[in-house]
Amino acid sequence: MTLLPQKVIKLDSYAGELRLHSGLLLGENNKMPVPKFRTSASKRNMRRSHHALKAPGLSVCPNCQEVKRPHVACHACGHYAGQQVMEPKTVNSSWDGSGADFNAEA
Ligand SMILES: [Zn+2]
Repeated sequence: MTLLPQKVIKLDSYAGELRLHSGLLLGENNKMPVPKFRTSASKRNMRRSHHALKAPGLSVCPNCQEVKRPHVACHACGHYAGQQVMEPKTVNSSWDGSGADFNAEA
């Protein structure tokens, strides 16, 4: 096993501070804030008690009975409050697999 040369970090000490050559200053006034105590499992779990994901609330479209988000126009039929308010968003229904639309010149 060969010993590789260690990386040398030159330090200029000045009034209790250590200034690395990169300009990073390490000293009394340049401490990173660090928690004084380890967070207990209880406190950690209390903090995480709000982290669980909830399933989105869903409703059924009265026009086409598709599952949709409440208070939002139905993407399947474009109806909202009994009126057609938008074009239905057809996902992949017009795609023939050729990629002609995708490859077409703009
Ligand atoms: Zn609908």
